[in-house]
Amino acid sequence: MGNLLAPGAQRGRLSILIYHRVLPQPDPMFPEDIDAKGFEQQLSALSRFFNVLPLEDAVKRLQSGSLPPRAVCITFDDGYADNAEIALPILRRSGLHATFFIATGFLDGGRMWNDSIIESVRQARGHELDLSELGLGKYPIATVAQRGATAVALVAQLKYLPLAQRLEQVAKVVQHIAVPLPNDLMLRAGQVRALHNAGMAIGGHTVNHPILAATDPTEARAEIAAGKESLEGIIGGRVALFAYPNGRPEHDYHGVHVQMVKDIGFTAAVSTAAGAARAESDRFQLPRYSPWDRTLPRFTLRLLKNFHAPAEVVA
Ligand SMILES: [Zn+2]
Repeated sequence: MGNLLAPGAQRGRLSILIYHRVLPQPDPMFPEDIDAKGFEQQLSALSRFFNVLPLEDAVKRLQSGSLPPRAVCITFDDGYADNAEIALPILRRSGLHATFFIATGFLDGGRMWNDSIIESVRQARGHELDLSELGLGKYPIATVAQRGATAVALVAQLKYLPLAQRLEQVAKVVQHIAVPLPNDLMLRAGQVRALHNAGMAIGGHTVNHPILAATDPTEARAEIAAGKESLEGIIGGRVALFAYPNGRPEHDYHGVHVQMVKDIGFTAAVSTAAGAARAESDRFQLPRYSPWDRTLPRFTLRLLKNFHAPAEVVA
């Protein structure tokens, strides 16, 4: 099956998978999100049908034309604690490599703003969430599914506000719902070191995860540079790879940010544009692929098809 869909002629293409969390068990609010069992199954399919490489090696081989067929890289964004607690042991058992792009501002007890919304909505009392006094409307929360949909709708409403305004609104939502929120969702510095010591790669993802395109250029540069410096301090080694927060080209970041990433000393970077990378792809804007199928045959087939996806548009 593999050779049929991604024959030798497809040598030279690279699919880079993007994950965020790997939950210990399914989350009833987000039943589509991957858990330990699903991740383990996906890794077994990756071992069996694909050639998984460390991202930095894969980028070099992409450019020198020496990639194996069906070449895949595994990446994680943001820096969730479950990456070390759940995903790492599974990766080690499978003998597979992954790169973890970590926003350093949330390490050691921090929480990303979207998780503040999700965890507040998860525990909110009553059947309806009335945020009209914050200009955010009313939402049904009678069922777990409604809570999931409400959290998604609120995150979508707040995502593209300027950073300060977004954080202010999030603080108001948190204050309005007023439930205790978890402080153990993100990695601790020691866990970042554990990922590094296990042979995994650590990559930059800024400090506070701003949408770079919506951020003052001086601040954007400082975010990218400080995140790198902080991670290098934690692991005592070089951080060579970067992932743009949110990652959509010409929407979440622009050419000016690509130049910053080069100037600051990264050697390659990934976006969230769809498709597979080719030799001529911009090494600083490599596309990534979101694996979301719940059944393994579909996961495998769709990933094989990704090798035939049209080349991404590179500015
Ligand atoms: Zn991210």
